Amino acid sequence: MPPLLVVGTRNPKKREEILEILGDSGVELRDLTHYPDAPEVVEDGKTFEENARKKAVELAVHLHEWVLGEDSGLVVPALNGRPGVYSARYAGKQGDDEANNARLLAELAPLPDDHRAAYYVCSAALADPTGQVRATAEGRCHGVLLRERRGAGGFGYDPLFLIPEYHQTFGELSARVKHALSHRARALAQMRPALRRM
Ligand code: IMP
Repeated sequence: MPPLLVVGTRNPKKREEILEILGDSGVELRDLTHYPDAPEVVEDGKTFEENARKKAVELAVHLHEWVLGEDSGLVVPALNGRPGVYSARYAGKQGDDEANNARLLAELAPLPDDHRAAYYVCSAALADPTGQVRATAEGRCHGVLLRERRGAGGFGYDPLFLIPEYHQTFGELSARVKHALSHRARALAQMRPALRRM
């Protein structure tokens, strides 16, 4: 029987992406919908890695299972790194993509086009059933932020995030292309050897 890995996120879009990216990894993937009593992990870390580790460890200790913790967000160097670890609640309310994009557009409005570079970061941590972190990985994906939304695919900041080589945003590109290029795909690719050792 393949080993069981719990994907420690309640964000349905992220969960969907992780399950698709790791679908062929040889482990049995389960998400938190199977564990309604799993604790809500407070994301109070100062870095993506701190939050990813915290999610993996707290959930692994509670569930007594292998857990993959993931924390991600958008970094805009011209905004001193914002929204960064606050990406999900940049406009105040947790997970309000529309309001987060509106705030980002307003903050970027005065900046010239050559100051609109940005990158996504994904930090992943794998904890064993005792809560010991066995592996961590980080992936990044670079792009440029547009002045208006384009496309309805993806989630979060994707309709503003242009991949210059493709002349399309993650909101316009297919899931197949996003999963080849994204910060999440890159972090999870580095995790594969640790998943094989589980
Ligand atoms: P987390 O649940 O704290 O890791 O928050 C992640 C937040 O970062 C999301 O709510 C989005 O705002 C943003 N984000 C992370 N990854 C992506 C992505 O692949 N596309 C768009 N936005 C993302």
